[in-house]
Amino acid sequence: MQLVSRSDLGWGASGADSANPTQGLVVHYDGSDQGLAGKAHSACVSYWKSTRDFHVNTNGWADIGYSFGACPHGYVFEGRGLKKYQAAQGTTAGNRDWYSVTLMSGPGEKPPSAQVNAVRDLRSYLMQRGVAGAVRGHRDFTSTTCPGNTLYRMVEDGTFSKSGESKDDDMPEHRRYRGRDLDVRIPRGEWRYVPFNQRGSQRLDSFDYSVAFGPAQFVASVGIRLAGLAPGAEVQLRAVEVSASGDAWEIAQSYAINSPQHTNGRAHFTHTWNGNCVDGNRLRFYVTHFSTGDEPVVLESSDASVHTWSY
Ligand SMILES: [Zn+2]
Ligand SMILES: [Zn+2]
Repeated sequence: MQLVSRSDLGWGASGADSANPTQGLVVHYDGSDQGLAGKAHSACVSYWKSTRDFHVNTNGWADIGYSFGACPHGYVFEGRGLKKYQAAQGTTAGNRDWYSVTLMSGPGEKPPSAQVNAVRDLRSYLMQRGVAGAVRGHRDFTSTTCPGNTLYRMVEDGTFSKSGESKDDDMPEHRRYRGRDLDVRIPRGEWRYVPFNQRGSQRLDSFDYSVAFGPAQFVASVGIRLAGLAPGAEVQLRAVEVSASGDAWEIAQSYAINSPQHTNGRAHFTHTWNGNCVDGNRLRFYVTHFSTGDEPVVLESSDASVHTWSY
């Protein structure tokens, strides 16, 4: 499952009340066509942020109403996320006992297969966490047109209840991150983030410091290019596991890497980590150096290749 997490969106933990939904997943739509399938994925990010803004600032709710969203490019967006009450289904029991997903599309739009697959992946993800596999439409709970006739037919014919095509439990999921034109100056002996501004083929609007998320076994290879190093200078890379709330930090592993011979003070370093990332946690990477030269040491670029095996 390709998850866009709350931390990806710059959101803290949800302030919604805790609950333990176990009954299944309820499908929703937007009342009007959004045209997101024909736009860049960044439009989905804007849509999700403005939906939350509307729910919080206009409706006065504790958070965005939905547990999750599924976009036409195949991403699952975290809304309230796991173990929270919904404000989507229209009944107290529905909001307490069921998860919700909205398809970010309207009555005149047919979901592309990537979007259908995102809902299937989400259903599998929930089922791995003890949630029943039932799929319902919003209109099964209360009088509403939601999720529209197109999606409701798909709820009824079991389209969303099939297993996701991109998902095979033995197959690792592979993600690639790149940081370009970074120009991050690193004072001697001080740790700095390794940032990324590209995920897969997608340019990010801002730097992302985190890769992967749990629960998953991972193999993460990180490469960086530094300029300004004195010959033979020692460089250290560190991987840190970060909790979902971002405030409990635990140093996973730290490695010293001796600089290879290089000219012009430029050198490339890589290291591979493997381990387990617990539920919701992410990995960040740090770099420092012990160069004694006069040149400022600058992080020019970064690359990360991450394979995860969900469990
Ligand atoms: Zn609805
Ligand atoms: Zn999208």
